[in-house]
Amino acid sequence: MNSISENIEIIKNEIKEICNKKGMNYDEITLIAVTKTIGIMRIKEAIASGINDIGENKVQEIMDKYEDLKELSNFHLIGHLQSNKVKYIIDKVKLIHSVDSLSLMDEINKRAKKAETIANILIQINVAREDTKFGIGIEELDSYIEYASKLDSIRVQGLMTIAPYFEDAEEARSIFRNLKSKYDELSKRDYGNIEMKFLSMGMTNDYKIALEEGSNMIRVGTGIFGKRIYNL
Ligand SMILES: *Cc1c(COP(=O)(O)O)cnc(C)c1O
Repeated sequence: MNSISENIEIIKNEIKEICNKKGMNYDEITLIAVTKTIGIMRIKEAIASGINDIGENKVQEIMDKYEDLKELSNFHLIGHLQSNKVKYIIDKVKLIHSVDSLSLMDEINKRAKKAETIANILIQINVAREDTKFGIGIEELDSYIEYASKLDSIRVQGLMTIAPYFEDAEEARSIFRNLKSKYDELSKRDYGNIEMKFLSMGMTNDYKIALEEGSNMIRVGTGIFGKRIYNL
């Protein structure tokens, strides 16, 4: 089994290769190490190997790890966020990837204002319309953008999706392509607090396909740390 630093090296080389092939700029790709269930020591190992951004899917885990890692890494909330927990992470995360309701947007706006900050968010899209996943339908996106444009303590910085798991990741390609095309369309519009800067798509199984289709932010857990062990 590879070490954490070897895994990161492999992934970075793959990102570089795809960037070269596709004429993309490697420096514009963010590799988020997904650290759910992973302990501080191993996360620090990843940081020492060149990781600057870590992703957690639970508010509680961000709170548990924040003090140890706040000086070393940016935190991303990538999992479903309940409105009543926004207050705990509003001043701790660089980006909330999982905004999937107008009421959540309102709450984030309210808490950001109170904390005298601007919250950076992505809107999560359930492109494949899976019942088991959060996210809005792609056809709802325009109304979300419109709504967000009226909230002055949030800044929409892009879109996020989780593709269904396919044995053959090629099957996710059309999903990524679909979202990239919407992202490009929105990039052309001009709203003050809406900017298409990050397209967060691609995980261990499908990040290469996602990058080929224009993702600039990938979220990789297993590919860096190995299989997760859940203590339930
Ligand atoms: C767990 C998780 C990932 C990483 O999944 P891997 O398959 O381990 O790379 C990415 N995004 C989200 C939202 C996750 O919850």
